[in-house]
Amino acid sequence: MIESTGSERKIIILDTSAFIARNFNLTDPDTVVPASVLEEIRKGKLKRSLDYADEMLSVRTPGKSSRESVMDFARKTGDLNVLSDTDIDVIALGLELGGTVMTDDFAIQNVCRVMGISVIPASNLFISKTIRWTYRCTGCRKYFKSYREKCDVCGHEVRRISSGKRHKDKI
Ligand SMILES: [Zn+2]
Repeated sequence: MIESTGSERKIIILDTSAFIARNFNLTDPDTVVPASVLEEIRKGKLKRSLDYADEMLSVRTPGKSSRESVMDFARKTGDLNVLSDTDIDVIALGLELGGTVMTDDFAIQNVCRVMGISVIPASNLFISKTIRWTYRCTGCRKYFKSYREKCDVCGHEVRRISSGKRHKDKI
């Protein structure tokens, strides 16, 4: 695993929503795109957004172990079922490179925060730092504002509950 270089370099990992927003510098050598994201963009309507940047982009594929680590966390937070393979790659690269993930996807943002990976929104519509999900115990039904594996009261599993208009899960 590559160590985080702190303030020296700031690696930014882009997901597809970052390409939609175009709020980054493609010529920046510290801008990294997961191979699967690039593949997804090449296939779709966003192909044009690549322009001539295709050649300049730094393309990476995350290792199996970091992908598994992401999936473990996402399973715990309840985000795994809404994350695509591409999403997992984005977070896994954030982990491997000690970089910052740029995305508007709530599930990616959520998992990044739980894993201690820094995350910035792709669009100018800044999404509040507060996680919009709530968590609820499967046993005593107590609500929690932040993720925890087990309920403080009864020890049962805590699950994320989707609620509110801003919910963007891709089910
Ligand atoms: Zn409980």
